[in-house]
Formats: sequence, structure tokens, C-alpha cells
Amino acid sequence: MELKNEIKVGGVVYALTEKPFIEIDGSRDFIGNCDYQKAEIAVLSDISDERKDQTVIHELTHAIFYEAGYEEQDEDMINRVGKVLHQVLIDNFD
Ligand SMILES: [Zn+2]
Repeated sequence: MELKNEIKVGGVVYALTEKPFIEIDGSRDFIGNCDYQKAEIAVLSDISDERKDQTVIHELTHAIFYEAGYEEQDEDMINRVGKVLHQVLIDNFD
């Protein structure tokens, strides 16, 4: 899937970056992150292309819900919506 290095969500431009590691609260046990304040979606650089797509779409789903006003998010719901959104984008767009 071709992704730009910027994704506009609800009028906010999120930067899309690849990083060698992602650290949250002292832990590096993450493959992606969505930082709403910095408007940045980060994904680990050293993972498969498919895992990268899946992770970006998951983090993008967090951004979509955040920009829609859902500041508190249920991870299970984001996982489920993210999986379907990933399939819709992969199967219907170039
Ligand atoms: Zn998540």
C-alpha cells in the first residue's frame, strides 16, 4: 500500500514516520504509536511491509477516533475497527 508521509485526519496533518525503536513510558515494547499532541504516527522501521501497513492503519484509527472527539479509547474497539479498515483500504484502493 502506498502511503504518503503525511495523512490528514479531520483537518489535522499527521506526520507518518518510521523509527528504529518506539519508546512509551520507558518501554520499547511497541511497534507503533499515535501521538495526538505532536500529530505524529510512528511505526517501527524493522518490521514486514504487511505488518507496517496493519500498524499504520491501527494508529490511524486512533487518530480518526481522537479527531472525532473520542479522547478515551477502548483498545479492543480500535483493534477491531482498524482490522476492517485495513482490509477495506487494501482490497479497494491502490
Ligand atoms: Zn492501539
